[in-house]
Parts: sequence; C-alpha cells; structure tokens
Amino acid sequence: MATNGSPELLIVMGPEATPDQTDHVVARLEEAGVDARVSRGREATVIGAIGDRELLATLPVEGYPGVEQVVPIIKPYRLVARELAADPTVIDVDGHRVGDTYFGLIAGPCSVESREQTLTTARVVADAGATMLRGGAFKPRTSPYTFQGLGIEALELLQEAKAETGLPIVTELMDPRHVEDVVNAADVIQIGARNSQNFLLLSEVGRAEKPVLLKRGLSTSVEELLMAAEYVAKEGNDRIILCERGIKTFETSTRFTLDLGAVAVLKNETHLPVIVDPSHAAGRRDLVLPLARAAAAVGADGIIVETHPRPEEALSDAAQQIPTSQFAAFAAEVAAIVALMGKEIG
Ligand code: PEP
Ligand code: MN
Repeated sequence: MATNGSPELLIVMGPEATPDQTDHVVARLEEAGVDARVSRGREATVIGAIGDRELLATLPVEGYPGVEQVVPIIKPYRLVARELAADPTVIDVDGHRVGDTYFGLIAGPCSVESREQTLTTARVVADAGATMLRGGAFKPRTSPYTFQGLGIEALELLQEAKAETGLPIVTELMDPRHVEDVVNAADVIQIGARNSQNFLLLSEVGRAEKPVLLKRGLSTSVEELLMAAEYVAKEGNDRIILCERGIKTFETSTRFTLDLGAVAVLKNETHLPVIVDPSHAAGRRDLVLPLARAAAAVGADGIIVETHPRPEEALSDAAQQIPTSQFAAFAAEVAAIVALMGKEIG
C-alpha cells in the first residue's frame, strides 16, 4: 500500500474511451504492482490507482490511450472518496435500495425481544413500505446489568421475519467471534457507534460478502468516519452505508446532538450512501419525526428508525421507540419530504 501521505492517482477516461483502453490501463497498473479500482459510470469511467508513489511515478499514465485526465488524490481516504466513483453508490439488496435517488427507510425494534414482538413489527414496517428491517440481536449496552440481546435466537427470529415479509435484515455485529453467525443471518451488517473505530472488526467485515452499515462513533469526526469506512473498503468490500446517529456535545436536551451538517459534508466527500438515525440522536420519540424530516431534507439517503408494538415495555431504548401503531403515519410524513427531494423510498 501507499507510503504515508503519498498522493495516489485518479485516472479519468475520456468519453470516447473504449472498454479495451480501460482494461489496458488497468493491466499496466497491475503489472507494476499498483492496485486499480475501476468505476464505470453512466457518463465516465474512472480508475483509482492506489499504490506506491515511486512506482506510480514511473508509469506514463497520461500517455495511455483513452486517458483524459490524471489527478492526484490528496485526501487521506481514497476508495470512499467521491471522486473514486463515477456515480453515487447504490446498495441494492434483492431490489431493496439505498443511495442516489433511493431513500432507504430502515425500521424495526431496538432489540429483538420475542417472536411476537419481532413479527408484529416486521409486518407493520413492511406494510408501510419500508426498505429493510432492523433489530438488535447482540446489544452494546452501557450497563452490563441491562438486557444484552437474545443473540443467536434473535438472529433466527429475524430470519423468520424476513421469510414472511421479504424485508432484508440489518443487525449489529459486535464481536469477531460472531462474524459467521451474523454474516449468515444479516443482509446488511451493522457496525455500531461504539465499534466505529474497532479496526480489526472493520477489516473483518471488509472481507464479508454483505453490505455494511457503519455508524459514526460518539466522538468521531467526519474524517475519522471516512477513514473507518476506508478500512472496510480496503479489504474489498465497498458496499458501505454511512450513518450519522448523533454525537456527544455539551447539550443535554437531546440524547446526542444530531449533526446534520456532517451529512451535508459527507454527501460532498463520499460516493457512499449516507443515512441518519434520528432515534438514537433524539432519545425521545416526540423528536424522531422532526429529525427524520430534517434528515430527508438535508439530502440523506435514508433513515434507520426504532419502532416497537409496546415501547413502554421495551427492554432497551423504551423512551425513543415509536409505537408501531403510529409507524405508517410516520412513514407517510417522511415520504412527503423524500418526494420533494426528487427521490423515492427504495
Ligand atoms: C442501534 O442501532 O441499535 C445502536 C445501538 O445504535 P448506536 O450504535 O448508534 O448507538
Ligand atoms: Mn436502540
């Protein structure tokens, strides 16, 4: 890989360049031991050349047929940088989409607690047109004395909910020892805020064959979040959804401070879809709708929301879960802003 701080290259192929010419550039780079990532877009093809600076300098890249422009990459993140993809990335799980013009509505309980609770919630969110079902099996709880999740049993319940509703499953992976179980059960592997910079876990999911939903850490900067995503992409998995879920500030009137500015910045900096978790940011259910609407309006590619048939009895995050009885109305309110933004629920 690159030596520290070395600018690597973004190679833009001209509009007339043929696929053979792109393949030729890739072959020359690979021969020289440089990693080449090709992104074929609607209008252009770009090649990211990630490798040793000295090696790259020896290649006459500008002169290869079909090359229009060669630009050094000076940001610390490379594979997730906006310039590295010709078009915005769309995460597509069996036709359920997040990114570009598809707004992902991901919803479900904080924790999977029982069969009845999980299936009831899954039916409600599916009927409301949600994109995917969320539900925690392994829970990162602040207190070791509170409910820690049903673990493997919860993964089985999520599978049952998927079989009935067809909704892809989003669930959190906390421990490298659970990689196999979670990767098999999940359609999208969630990395929680507290593991946002667990670099070994990030590399592990970088080798998985499933998309990753990567949450921003409680105190990580936008650049640190992008570098965390880079760990995943470096291993070969570039199907990543970033999630702003609120950060720690001096403010105590919300559970965390939802950083909508970060969403706008991320949309400039990366080709990856960026979603918002209004539930954990708010910490109270009355604020979830306004924050969700704001997320859609600022240009987020989706939201992940907690809902429960009887929130007051929930074993985790009781104060912030929306009753399932109100979920359809909630989804309709969000969909109105999504439509204003020229998008549709994916
Ligand atoms: C969750 O989504 O269940 C969760 C624990 O979120 P976070 O990691 O953002 O706190
Ligand atoms: Mn929760």
